[in-house]
Amino acid sequence: MHRKFFLLIAFSFIHQQIFCWGFYAHKVINHQAVFLLPPSMMVFYKPNINFITEHAVDPDKRRYIVAEEGARHFIDLNTYGVYPFTDVPRKWNEATEKFGEDSLYKHGIVPWWINIMLQRLTNAFVQKNYPAILKLSAELAHYTGDAHVPLHTNNNYNGQLTGQQGIHGFWESRVPELLAENNFDYFIGKAVYVEDPLHFAWSIVLQSASATDSVLLFEKQLSNRFPPDQKYAFEERNGMIVKQYSSAFTIAYNDMLNDMVQRRMRQSIFAVASLWYTAWVNAGQPQLEANANIQFSASDSTAFKLLDAGWQSGKSTGRTCEN
Ligand SMILES: [Zn+2]
Repeated sequence: MHRKFFLLIAFSFIHQQIFCWGFYAHKVINHQAVFLLPPSMMVFYKPNINFITEHAVDPDKRRYIVAEEGARHFIDLNTYGVYPFTDVPRKWNEATEKFGEDSLYKHGIVPWWINIMLQRLTNAFVQKNYPAILKLSAELAHYTGDAHVPLHTNNNYNGQLTGQQGIHGFWESRVPELLAENNFDYFIGKAVYVEDPLHFAWSIVLQSASATDSVLLFEKQLSNRFPPDQKYAFEERNGMIVKQYSSAFTIAYNDMLNDMVQRRMRQSIFAVASLWYTAWVNAGQPQLEANANIQFSASDSTAFKLLDAGWQSGKSTGRTCEN
């Protein structure tokens, strides 16, 4: 084989490692959610849709520089027993009383974090702080999207306990990257008001947890049917040839899951738009301006640069989506 080809493949693996899995889906979710908003919100969100889309992945980048960040993206519900995990108090104070903060952080805090981000976004609306509205909208959407991923609710998050390493990125990146563009339908309807956001966040992670068994089992069953040289193939990803789950294997998996990935992406988009809308309603429906002059502070700009630099260094402080 030519040396050049080897180099290309080697480079692709490095690139794959730093180009975090899941970025594609997060950006689609943030982008599409804007179109579910009522006109009085869309007037502000639409002109800023590029920011909301690009910054969909800031929380994942932050994992590379802030140790506490990791726990905000998942909750290993299976470590608390069996579905519907009634042993875990849904309220933070009761949960900390029962398990202690350290233990909760260790197993992930995503449903509680969604609620905290919602409150922060509500405050930003009250203050009509446009840069904060944009940053918090993008980030709340990220955590809400993560909560919809079954493997974000299980300690076997990358199939590492069952010999299925790679399944995390397979479900949340390979499937949507291969199929979303031409096959996923984003006509979803309108955002709705969420009466009880904490309960809403919990219902999302519970649905995710109930899907985890099929996510793992179907991959295993399919792997028994596909010889390794057909399970993986050198195919194009982001303009490069990389070894990854083959298209045939990916399509067969998606069929077995009966389009679960699309369903969870659609539900993510609906949940994101509904939480943005809820924050705005709870803030008293402030009038948003289409031509708002959005000035990010110097410290915001520095923070964005640090996020990129940390992410490009590739040294995560905790669990990452490409594990
Ligand atoms: Zn994440």
